[in-house]
Amino acid sequence: MKLSDKLEILADAAKYDASCASSGAPKRASDGNDGGIGATTGMGICHSYTPDGRCVSLLKILLTNFCVYDCQYCVNRRTSNVPRARFSVAEVVKLTHDFYLRNYIDGLFLSSGIIQSSDYTMEQLVAVARTLREVHHFKGYIHLKTIPDADPLLIAEAGRYADRLSVNIELPTHDSVTRLAPEKNVHTIKLAMGSIRRKLDEKAEEPKGPSFAPAGQSTQMIVGADASDDQTILNTAETLYGSYKLKRVYYSAFSPIPQSPDSVPLAPPPLLREHRLYQADFLLRGYGFTAGELMPAAGNLALDVDPKLAWALANREHFPMDLNRADAEMIARVPGIGLRNAKRIVDLRRLRRVRWEDLSRLRCSMKKIAPFVVTADYKPAQGLASSDLLRRHLGAPQEQMNLWPELKAA
Ligand code: SF4
Repeated sequence: MKLSDKLEILADAAKYDASCASSGAPKRASDGNDGGIGATTGMGICHSYTPDGRCVSLLKILLTNFCVYDCQYCVNRRTSNVPRARFSVAEVVKLTHDFYLRNYIDGLFLSSGIIQSSDYTMEQLVAVARTLREVHHFKGYIHLKTIPDADPLLIAEAGRYADRLSVNIELPTHDSVTRLAPEKNVHTIKLAMGSIRRKLDEKAEEPKGPSFAPAGQSTQMIVGADASDDQTILNTAETLYGSYKLKRVYYSAFSPIPQSPDSVPLAPPPLLREHRLYQADFLLRGYGFTAGELMPAAGNLALDVDPKLAWALANREHFPMDLNRADAEMIARVPGIGLRNAKRIVDLRRLRRVRWEDLSRLRCSMKKIAPFVVTADYKPAQGLASSDLLRRHLGAPQEQMNLWPELKAA
């Protein structure tokens, strides 16, 4: 089979993996004494996105889409009737190197179906990264998928060469993994995450020790392949962040595939559901929200309003919030005010009292913040805005949003 045909098959097979962001990679110079190439900073970085919004700035491929496992949600499962291909280690190295030199990509995202055994597959993945780093002095970003059952020594070796390692948990509950991915084992997956975390901790304690996955570890959960709701998904994400210090949990809306088994849905979940999970995840990681605050009851995140607004509407006792008194952490919980502006508002208070026009100058989302804040010269009219009214107003299309000037009662 020609290399280009393999590339077509194995790039297409990799598109279902959402975890391809390269954030967190260290800066490396391309002009050092070792003649390295492909640094991810400076000139020559190309970023592009597929029509469905997935990042493809990395060469994102599988080593092979042959697989001895039969995960029901996966197009590459052994019972799937799809064209199969397999790269050799040398072919992946050559493709990555050539694409780098042509400035097509700024890194490699390499995953694989499981062939022969977990250890054999992991050895192949490690060999790609090792050859790129040691033979070609490749300075670009490398993200390696980790095979959970592989020998921890192989995982440790992978971390020496890769910027990021990821172990996909795939589904948010033990029962779902058992039902839809019978050859996988949540315990083994978590052991692999734990071994990566320990290596990351060791590296943090000994900064001068050998490099280990400087961009940390991540995982992916498929949304909508099982009946798990967003409360379950966010609780699992919160546990993973806490237990394994993950940099990111990625959420990938389930894509039905031709000849799907009956055990998975025929239709995908709304893409907006995936988007809301990313927004909620952002609040977990950066804003100090807990999963319990964002999803206090079973069910899915609201689709009509974003999770921070939904939380504010359900917790009106915190609002309107006096921006001249509240601390930065609480100010960042106001819909329409981000972390950076919360800090700027607190900084401004050292000079003078915060006024309405200051918020406009900070480019806060004025429509959104209007019902939730008090400033030196502004407070929203009392009793005019129930949470239901606000929800309809703030969740409505742009052209219907000309209500707040009437409610502004300074
Ligand atoms: S092990 Fe990975 S590639 Fe193989 S069927 Fe399962 S999800 Fe797909």
